[in-house]
Amino acid sequence: MISYWEREALLQYDHLIIGSGIVGLSTAISLQEKYPKQRIAVLERGVLPTGASTKNAGFACIGSLTEILDDLTHLSEKEVVDLVERRRNGLATLRQRLGDEAIEYLECGSYEIIGERELPALEELERINTLLKPMLGQQAFSLCSEKRSDFGFASSFAKAMILNHCEGQIHTGKMMRALLDKARTVGVQVLTGVTVSRIEETEKQVNLVAYPSGKPTHQYQFVAPQVYICTNAFSKQFLPNLDLQPGRGQVLVTHPIPNLPFEGIFHFDEGYFYFRNHGKRVIFGGGRNLDFEGEQSTQLETTPLIMNALETHLRENILPNTPFEIDMRWAGVMGFGKTKVPIVKRHSERIAIGIRMGGMGVAIGSLIGAELASLG
Ligand SMILES: Cc1cc2nc3c(=O)[nH]c(=O)nc-3n(C[C@H](O)[C@H](O)[C@H](O)COP(=O)(O)OP(=O)(O)OC[C@H]3O[C@@H](n4cnc5c(N)ncnc54)[C@H](O)[C@@H]3O)c2cc1C
Repeated sequence: MISYWEREALLQYDHLIIGSGIVGLSTAISLQEKYPKQRIAVLERGVLPTGASTKNAGFACIGSLTEILDDLTHLSEKEVVDLVERRRNGLATLRQRLGDEAIEYLECGSYEIIGERELPALEELERINTLLKPMLGQQAFSLCSEKRSDFGFASSFAKAMILNHCEGQIHTGKMMRALLDKARTVGVQVLTGVTVSRIEETEKQVNLVAYPSGKPTHQYQFVAPQVYICTNAFSKQFLPNLDLQPGRGQVLVTHPIPNLPFEGIFHFDEGYFYFRNHGKRVIFGGGRNLDFEGEQSTQLETTPLIMNALETHLRENILPNTPFEIDMRWAGVMGFGKTKVPIVKRHSERIAIGIRMGGMGVAIGSLIGAELASLG
Protein backbone atom coordinates (compact mmCIF):
# COMPACT_ATOMS: atom_id res chain seq x y z
CA MET A 1 0.00 0.00 0.00
CA ILE A 2 1.49 3.38 -0.92
CA SER A 3 0.62 6.85 0.38
CA TYR A 4 -0.51 9.91 -1.53
CA TRP A 5 2.89 11.52 -0.75
CA GLU A 6 4.79 8.59 -2.18
CA ARG A 7 2.72 8.58 -5.36
CA GLU A 8 3.04 12.34 -5.83
CA ALA A 9 6.72 12.83 -4.99
CA LEU A 10 8.71 9.59 -4.80
CA LEU A 11 7.47 7.49 -7.70
CA GLN A 12 7.42 10.15 -10.43
CA TYR A 13 10.49 11.06 -12.46
CA ASP A 14 11.41 12.78 -15.72
CA HIS A 15 13.54 9.83 -16.88
CA LEU A 16 13.60 6.24 -15.60
CA ILE A 17 16.31 3.76 -16.53
CA ILE A 18 15.93 0.02 -15.96
CA GLY A 19 19.22 -1.72 -15.11
CA SER A 20 22.27 -0.32 -13.29
CA GLY A 21 25.02 -1.94 -15.35
CA ILE A 22 27.60 0.21 -17.09
CA VAL A 23 25.10 1.17 -19.81
CA GLY A 24 22.24 2.10 -17.45
CA LEU A 25 24.50 4.17 -15.18
CA SER A 26 26.27 5.84 -18.13
CA THR A 27 22.89 6.70 -19.67
CA ALA A 28 21.69 8.20 -16.39
CA ILE A 29 24.86 10.29 -15.96
CA SER A 30 24.69 11.57 -19.56
CA LEU A 31 20.99 12.43 -19.13
CA GLN A 32 21.61 14.24 -15.84
CA GLU A 33 24.44 16.22 -17.47
CA LYS A 34 22.08 17.11 -20.32
CA TYR A 35 19.13 17.97 -18.04
CA PRO A 36 20.63 19.09 -14.69
CA LYS A 37 17.26 20.14 -13.24
CA GLN A 38 15.33 16.98 -14.12
CA ARG A 39 14.68 13.99 -11.84
CA ILE A 40 16.37 10.81 -13.00
CA ALA A 41 16.34 7.37 -11.39
CA VAL A 42 17.82 3.98 -12.17
CA LEU A 43 15.87 0.90 -11.04
CA GLU A 44 18.04 -2.16 -10.37
CA ARG A 45 16.69 -5.55 -9.30
CA GLY A 46 19.87 -6.60 -7.46
CA VAL A 47 21.41 -5.24 -4.29
CA LEU A 48 24.40 -4.75 -6.63
CA PRO A 49 24.27 -4.57 -10.44
CA THR A 50 23.60 -8.23 -11.34
CA GLY A 51 24.36 -9.00 -14.98
CA ALA A 52 27.75 -8.54 -16.64
CA SER A 53 29.15 -5.22 -15.46
CA THR A 54 30.38 -6.38 -12.04
CA LYS A 55 31.30 -9.88 -13.23
CA ASN A 56 33.61 -9.29 -16.19
CA ALA A 57 37.36 -9.63 -16.50
CA GLY A 58 38.10 -5.91 -16.84
CA PHE A 59 39.66 -5.89 -20.31
CA ALA A 60 39.42 -2.42 -21.82
CA CYS A 61 39.74 -3.67 -25.37
CA ILE A 62 39.15 -2.57 -28.93
CA GLY A 63 39.49 -6.08 -30.44
CA SER A 64 42.17 -8.67 -31.09
CA LEU A 65 43.51 -9.52 -34.56
CA THR A 66 41.53 -12.76 -34.90
CA GLU A 67 38.40 -11.08 -33.49
CA ILE A 68 38.63 -8.34 -36.12
CA LEU A 69 39.25 -10.91 -38.86
CA ASP A 70 36.17 -12.80 -37.69
CA ASP A 71 34.14 -9.56 -37.61
CA LEU A 72 35.15 -8.96 -41.24
CA THR A 73 33.39 -12.18 -42.22
CA HIS A 74 30.06 -10.74 -40.92
CA LEU A 75 30.44 -6.98 -41.31
CA SER A 76 31.79 -4.62 -43.98
CA GLU A 77 35.22 -2.99 -43.51
CA LYS A 78 33.50 0.30 -42.68
CA GLU A 79 31.29 -1.33 -40.05
CA VAL A 80 34.31 -3.03 -38.47
CA VAL A 81 36.31 0.21 -38.33
CA ASP A 82 33.25 2.03 -36.90
CA LEU A 83 32.90 -0.56 -34.17
CA VAL A 84 36.57 -0.34 -33.21
CA GLU A 85 36.22 3.46 -33.16
CA ARG A 86 33.15 3.29 -30.91
CA ARG A 87 35.01 1.00 -28.52
CA ARG A 88 37.98 3.37 -28.46
CA ASN A 89 35.75 6.41 -27.93
CA GLY A 90 33.74 4.64 -25.22
CA LEU A 91 36.92 3.80 -23.37
CA ALA A 92 38.12 7.41 -23.67
CA THR A 93 34.79 8.61 -22.20
CA LEU A 94 35.02 6.14 -19.32
CA ARG A 95 38.59 7.17 -18.50
CA GLN A 96 37.85 10.84 -18.76
CA ARG A 97 34.66 10.59 -16.69
CA LEU A 98 36.06 8.53 -13.82
CA GLY A 99 39.83 9.05 -13.99
CA ASP A 100 42.48 6.35 -14.48
CA GLU A 101 43.31 6.18 -10.80
CA ALA A 102 39.73 5.49 -9.69
CA ILE A 103 39.30 2.62 -12.16
CA GLU A 104 42.92 1.40 -11.89
CA TYR A 105 43.41 1.71 -15.64
CA LEU A 106 46.77 0.16 -16.54
CA GLU A 107 48.49 -0.36 -19.85
CA CYS A 108 50.85 -3.19 -19.02
CA GLY A 109 50.43 -5.05 -22.27
CA SER A 110 47.60 -6.64 -24.19
CA TYR A 111 48.45 -9.81 -26.05
CA GLU A 112 46.81 -12.35 -28.30
CA ILE A 113 48.28 -15.83 -28.03
CA ILE A 114 48.26 -17.52 -31.41
CA GLY A 115 47.86 -21.29 -31.45
CA GLU A 116 48.48 -23.66 -34.36
CA ARG A 117 44.97 -23.10 -35.78
CA GLU A 118 45.24 -19.28 -35.83
CA LEU A 119 48.69 -19.08 -37.45
CA PRO A 120 47.25 -18.03 -40.87
CA ALA A 121 45.94 -14.85 -39.15
CA LEU A 122 49.52 -13.56 -38.95
CA GLU A 123 49.54 -13.09 -42.70
CA GLU A 124 46.67 -10.60 -42.28
CA LEU A 125 48.35 -8.50 -39.60
CA GLU A 126 49.63 -5.78 -41.91
CA ARG A 127 46.32 -5.60 -43.81
CA ILE A 128 44.42 -5.01 -40.56
CA ASN A 129 46.99 -2.46 -39.35
CA THR A 130 46.55 -0.60 -42.64
CA LEU A 131 42.75 -0.76 -42.31
CA LEU A 132 42.71 0.64 -38.76
CA LYS A 133 45.60 3.13 -38.91
CA PRO A 134 43.71 6.12 -40.42
CA MET A 135 41.19 5.93 -37.57
CA LEU A 136 43.56 5.00 -34.71
CA GLY A 137 46.41 7.23 -35.88
CA GLN A 138 48.85 4.49 -34.90
CA GLN A 139 49.69 0.88 -35.57
CA ALA A 140 47.36 -1.46 -33.65
CA PHE A 141 49.24 -4.77 -33.74
CA SER A 142 52.82 -6.01 -33.82
CA LEU A 143 54.37 -9.45 -33.43
CA CYS A 144 56.06 -10.11 -30.07
CA SER A 145 56.52 -13.88 -30.09
CA GLU A 146 59.86 -13.58 -28.29
CA LYS A 147 57.99 -12.74 -25.05
CA ARG A 148 56.40 -16.21 -24.87
CA SER A 149 59.35 -17.76 -23.07
CA ASP A 150 59.63 -14.83 -20.57
CA PHE A 151 55.98 -15.38 -19.68
CA GLY A 152 56.49 -19.11 -19.20
CA PHE A 153 53.67 -20.35 -21.45
CA ALA A 154 53.82 -23.91 -22.81
CA SER A 155 55.49 -23.82 -26.23
CA SER A 156 52.93 -26.24 -27.73
CA PHE A 157 50.18 -23.76 -26.75
CA ALA A 158 51.67 -20.40 -27.80
CA LYS A 159 52.98 -20.64 -31.37
CA ALA A 160 53.20 -16.84 -31.72
CA MET A 161 52.09 -13.74 -29.86
CA ILE A 162 50.73 -10.36 -30.96
CA LEU A 163 50.92 -7.15 -28.96
CA ASN A 164 47.96 -4.78 -29.19
CA HIS A 165 49.12 -1.18 -28.66
CA CYS A 166 45.69 0.29 -27.86
CA GLU A 167 44.33 -1.69 -24.90
CA GLY A 168 44.57 -1.79 -21.12
CA GLN A 169 43.06 -3.34 -18.01
CA ILE A 170 40.81 -1.92 -15.31
CA HIS A 171 39.63 -2.96 -11.85
CA THR A 172 36.04 -3.88 -12.67
CA GLY A 173 34.79 -3.48 -9.10
CA LYS A 174 36.38 -0.06 -8.65
CA MET A 175 35.13 1.08 -12.05
CA MET A 176 31.54 0.20 -11.12
CA ARG A 177 31.95 1.75 -7.68
CA ALA A 178 33.24 4.97 -9.26
CA LEU A 179 30.38 4.93 -11.78
CA LEU A 180 27.79 4.51 -9.01
CA ASP A 181 29.46 7.31 -7.02
CA LYS A 182 29.51 9.55 -10.09
CA ALA A 183 25.81 8.90 -10.80
CA ARG A 184 24.88 9.83 -7.23
CA THR A 185 27.15 12.90 -7.27
CA VAL A 186 25.48 14.35 -10.36
CA GLY A 187 22.05 13.80 -8.77
CA VAL A 188 20.86 10.46 -10.16
CA GLN A 189 18.92 8.24 -7.75
CA VAL A 190 19.92 4.58 -7.93
CA LEU A 191 17.22 2.42 -6.36
CA THR A 192 18.38 -1.16 -5.76
CA GLY A 193 16.38 -4.30 -4.99
CA VAL A 194 13.61 -3.14 -7.37
CA THR A 195 12.51 -5.62 -10.05
CA VAL A 196 10.58 -4.08 -12.93
CA SER A 197 7.97 -6.63 -14.00
CA ARG A 198 5.94 -4.72 -16.59
CA ILE A 199 6.20 -1.67 -18.85
CA GLU A 200 2.97 0.07 -19.83
CA GLU A 201 3.17 2.95 -22.28
CA THR A 202 0.27 5.41 -22.45
CA GLU A 203 -0.17 8.58 -24.47
CA LYS A 204 1.29 10.79 -21.72
CA GLN A 205 3.71 8.57 -19.77
CA VAL A 206 5.25 5.18 -19.16
CA ASN A 207 4.27 3.18 -16.08
CA LEU A 208 6.84 0.78 -14.68
CA VAL A 209 5.19 -1.83 -12.52
CA ALA A 210 7.82 -2.98 -10.05
CA TYR A 211 8.22 -4.86 -6.78
CA PRO A 212 10.90 -5.25 -4.09
CA SER A 213 12.97 -8.16 -5.44
CA GLY A 214 11.64 -11.45 -4.02
CA LYS A 215 8.27 -9.96 -3.05
CA PRO A 216 6.23 -9.91 -6.27
CA THR A 217 2.95 -9.20 -4.45
CA HIS A 218 4.20 -5.80 -3.13
CA GLN A 219 3.68 -3.74 -6.26
CA TYR A 220 4.74 -0.14 -6.92
CA GLN A 221 4.12 1.93 -10.00
CA PHE A 222 6.95 4.24 -11.09
CA VAL A 223 6.03 6.84 -13.70
CA ALA A 224 8.04 8.90 -16.21
CA PRO A 225 7.50 10.41 -19.64
CA GLN A 226 10.74 8.74 -20.87
CA VAL A 227 12.06 5.26 -20.09
CA TYR A 228 15.34 3.58 -21.13
CA ILE A 229 15.73 -0.20 -21.13
CA CYS A 230 19.33 -1.13 -20.21
CA THR A 231 18.83 -4.71 -19.11
CA ASN A 232 21.18 -6.24 -21.70
CA ALA A 233 20.92 -10.07 -21.72
CA PHE A 234 17.69 -9.91 -19.71
CA SER A 235 15.76 -7.66 -22.10
CA LYS A 236 13.54 -10.30 -23.69
CA GLN A 237 11.34 -10.12 -20.60
CA PHE A 238 10.18 -6.73 -21.96
CA LEU A 239 10.83 -7.11 -25.71
CA PRO A 240 10.41 -10.80 -26.62
CA ASN A 241 11.04 -10.31 -30.35
CA LEU A 242 14.53 -8.82 -30.02
CA ASP A 243 17.47 -10.47 -31.79
CA LEU A 244 19.13 -11.27 -28.45
CA GLN A 245 20.62 -14.36 -26.84
CA PRO A 246 22.20 -14.60 -23.40
CA GLY A 247 25.76 -15.90 -23.30
CA ARG A 248 27.21 -16.78 -19.95
CA GLY A 249 30.84 -16.08 -19.08
CA GLN A 250 32.49 -18.09 -16.31
CA VAL A 251 35.54 -16.82 -14.47
CA LEU A 252 37.97 -17.91 -11.76
CA VAL A 253 40.67 -16.09 -9.79
CA THR A 254 43.73 -17.65 -8.16
CA HIS A 255 45.23 -16.79 -4.82
CA PRO A 256 48.34 -14.57 -5.17
CA ILE A 257 51.20 -16.43 -6.93
CA PRO A 258 54.55 -15.15 -5.56
CA ASN A 259 56.58 -15.61 -8.76
CA LEU A 260 53.87 -14.91 -11.31
CA PRO A 261 55.82 -14.81 -14.60
CA PHE A 262 53.61 -12.37 -16.57
CA GLU A 263 51.71 -9.09 -16.42
CA GLY A 264 49.04 -7.84 -18.82
CA ILE A 265 45.88 -9.04 -20.49
CA PHE A 266 45.81 -12.06 -22.81
CA HIS A 267 43.28 -13.63 -25.21
CA PHE A 268 43.42 -16.92 -27.05
CA ASP A 269 41.19 -19.23 -29.08
CA GLU A 270 39.72 -16.29 -31.05
CA GLY A 271 38.97 -14.44 -27.81
CA TYR A 272 36.85 -17.23 -26.30
CA PHE A 273 39.41 -17.54 -23.48
CA TYR A 274 40.95 -14.56 -21.69
CA PHE A 275 43.23 -14.12 -18.69
CA ARG A 276 45.11 -11.34 -16.97
CA ASN A 277 47.06 -10.59 -13.83
CA HIS A 278 45.57 -8.58 -11.03
CA GLY A 279 48.61 -7.90 -8.87
CA LYS A 280 50.00 -11.39 -8.27
CA ARG A 281 46.70 -13.14 -9.00
CA VAL A 282 45.48 -14.56 -12.30
CA ILE A 283 41.90 -13.92 -13.41
CA PHE A 284 40.89 -16.40 -16.11
CA GLY A 285 37.58 -16.75 -17.91
CA GLY A 286 35.78 -17.91 -21.01
CA GLY A 287 35.20 -21.27 -22.64
CA ARG A 288 31.65 -20.51 -23.79
CA ASN A 289 32.57 -22.14 -27.12
CA LEU A 290 32.88 -25.51 -25.34
CA ASP A 291 29.10 -25.60 -24.76
CA PHE A 292 27.37 -22.85 -26.76
CA GLU A 293 23.91 -24.24 -26.07
CA GLY A 294 24.36 -24.77 -22.34
CA GLU A 295 25.92 -21.31 -21.95
CA GLN A 296 22.90 -19.56 -23.50
CA SER A 297 21.72 -19.21 -19.94
CA THR A 298 20.82 -16.30 -17.68
CA GLN A 299 21.61 -18.37 -14.56
CA LEU A 300 24.55 -16.94 -12.65
CA GLU A 301 26.12 -20.35 -12.06
CA THR A 302 29.40 -22.04 -12.93
CA THR A 303 29.54 -25.54 -14.45
CA PRO A 304 32.11 -28.35 -13.97
CA LEU A 305 32.70 -28.60 -17.76
CA ILE A 306 33.90 -25.01 -18.15
CA MET A 307 35.63 -24.74 -14.79
CA ASN A 308 37.61 -27.95 -15.46
CA ALA A 309 38.63 -26.64 -18.88
CA LEU A 310 39.84 -23.36 -17.34
CA GLU A 311 41.85 -25.17 -14.66
CA THR A 312 43.38 -27.55 -17.22
CA HIS A 313 44.51 -24.65 -19.42
CA LEU A 314 45.99 -22.89 -16.38
CA ARG A 315 47.88 -25.97 -15.26
CA GLU A 316 49.09 -27.21 -18.65
CA ASN A 317 49.44 -24.10 -20.83
CA ILE A 318 49.48 -20.83 -18.91
CA LEU A 319 51.28 -21.72 -15.66
CA PRO A 320 52.90 -25.06 -16.59
CA ASN A 321 55.75 -24.66 -14.10
CA THR A 322 54.07 -22.64 -11.37
CA PRO A 323 51.84 -24.04 -8.61
CA PHE A 324 48.57 -22.12 -7.96
CA GLU A 325 45.36 -22.39 -5.94
CA ILE A 326 41.90 -21.17 -6.93
CA ASP A 327 40.40 -18.52 -4.65
CA MET A 328 36.95 -17.82 -6.21
CA ARG A 329 34.74 -18.73 -9.17
CA TRP A 330 31.75 -16.84 -10.58
CA ALA A 331 29.61 -16.26 -13.67
CA GLY A 332 28.06 -13.28 -15.45
CA VAL A 333 25.75 -13.01 -18.43
CA MET A 334 26.37 -11.14 -21.69
CA GLY A 335 23.90 -10.27 -24.47
CA PHE A 336 24.64 -11.36 -28.07
CA GLY A 337 22.82 -11.16 -31.41
CA LYS A 338 23.26 -12.25 -35.00
CA THR A 339 25.40 -9.17 -35.51
CA LYS A 340 27.91 -7.82 -33.05
CA VAL A 341 26.72 -4.22 -33.32
CA PRO A 342 24.91 -3.11 -30.11
CA ILE A 343 21.25 -2.04 -30.30
CA VAL A 344 20.78 1.65 -29.46
CA LYS A 345 17.49 2.97 -30.69
CA ARG A 346 14.13 4.42 -29.92
CA HIS A 347 11.63 1.60 -29.46
CA SER A 348 8.61 3.90 -29.31
CA GLU A 349 7.81 7.54 -28.60
CA ARG A 350 8.56 7.15 -24.89
CA ILE A 351 10.85 4.14 -24.68
CA ALA A 352 14.47 3.78 -25.87
CA ILE A 353 16.76 0.76 -25.60
CA GLY A 354 20.53 0.31 -25.24
CA ILE A 355 21.43 -3.35 -25.12
CA ARG A 356 23.49 -6.24 -26.55
CA MET A 357 27.04 -5.23 -25.67
CA GLY A 358 28.46 -8.74 -26.17
CA GLY A 359 31.98 -8.87 -24.71
CA MET A 360 32.64 -5.18 -25.44
CA GLY A 361 30.67 -3.35 -22.75
CA VAL A 362 33.59 -2.17 -20.63
CA ALA A 363 34.97 -0.22 -23.56
CA ILE A 364 31.84 0.70 -25.48
CA GLY A 365 29.31 1.03 -22.62
CA SER A 366 29.95 4.71 -21.79
CA LEU A 367 29.51 5.70 -25.43
CA ILE A 368 26.29 3.68 -25.72
CA GLY A 369 25.02 5.51 -22.63
CA ALA A 370 25.79 8.87 -24.28
CA GLU A 371 24.12 7.78 -27.53
CA LEU A 372 21.04 6.56 -25.66
CA ALA A 373 20.81 9.77 -23.63
CA SER A 374 20.94 11.76 -26.89
CA LEU A 375 17.64 10.09 -27.86
CA GLY A 376 15.97 11.37 -24.68
C1 LIG B 1 32.54 -13.11 -17.57
C2 LIG B 1 32.47 -11.87 -18.41
C3 LIG B 1 33.65 -11.31 -18.87
C4 LIG B 1 33.59 -10.15 -19.65
N1 LIG B 1 34.75 -9.54 -19.95
C5 LIG B 1 34.70 -8.36 -20.59
C6 LIG B 1 35.87 -7.64 -20.82
O1 LIG B 1 36.94 -8.06 -20.37
N2 LIG B 1 35.80 -6.47 -21.53
C7 LIG B 1 34.61 -5.98 -21.96
O2 LIG B 1 34.58 -4.94 -22.61
N3 LIG B 1 33.47 -6.61 -21.69
C8 LIG B 1 33.48 -7.77 -21.02
N4 LIG B 1 32.33 -8.41 -20.73
C9 LIG B 1 31.07 -7.82 -21.19
C10 LIG B 1 30.65 -6.60 -20.36
O3 LIG B 1 30.75 -6.91 -18.98
C11 LIG B 1 29.21 -6.28 -20.75
O4 LIG B 1 29.16 -6.02 -22.16
C12 LIG B 1 28.67 -5.04 -20.03
O5 LIG B 1 28.90 -5.14 -18.65
C13 LIG B 1 27.19 -4.91 -20.31
O6 LIG B 1 26.68 -3.85 -19.54
P1 LIG B 1 25.14 -3.57 -19.50
O7 LIG B 1 24.94 -2.40 -18.61
O8 LIG B 1 24.59 -3.52 -20.88
O9 LIG B 1 24.47 -4.89 -18.87
P2 LIG B 1 24.51 -5.52 -17.40
O10 LIG B 1 25.74 -5.20 -16.68
O11 LIG B 1 24.16 -6.95 -17.56
O12 LIG B 1 23.34 -4.74 -16.66
C14 LIG B 1 21.98 -5.06 -16.80
C15 LIG B 1 21.33 -4.82 -15.46
O13 LIG B 1 19.90 -4.93 -15.59
C16 LIG B 1 19.42 -5.44 -14.38
N5 LIG B 1 18.07 -5.97 -14.61
C17 LIG B 1 17.73 -7.01 -15.43
N6 LIG B 1 16.40 -7.19 -15.39
C18 LIG B 1 15.88 -6.26 -14.54
C19 LIG B 1 14.55 -5.94 -14.11
N7 LIG B 1 13.49 -6.64 -14.52
N8 LIG B 1 14.38 -4.93 -13.22
C20 LIG B 1 15.46 -4.20 -12.79
N9 LIG B 1 16.73 -4.46 -13.17
C21 LIG B 1 16.94 -5.48 -14.06
C22 LIG B 1 20.43 -6.52 -14.02
O14 LIG B 1 20.35 -6.88 -12.66
C23 LIG B 1 21.75 -5.85 -14.40
O15 LIG B 1 22.36 -5.19 -13.31
C24 LIG B 1 32.34 -9.57 -19.97
C25 LIG B 1 31.17 -10.14 -19.49
C26 LIG B 1 31.23 -11.28 -18.71
C27 LIG B 1 29.95 -11.88 -18.18
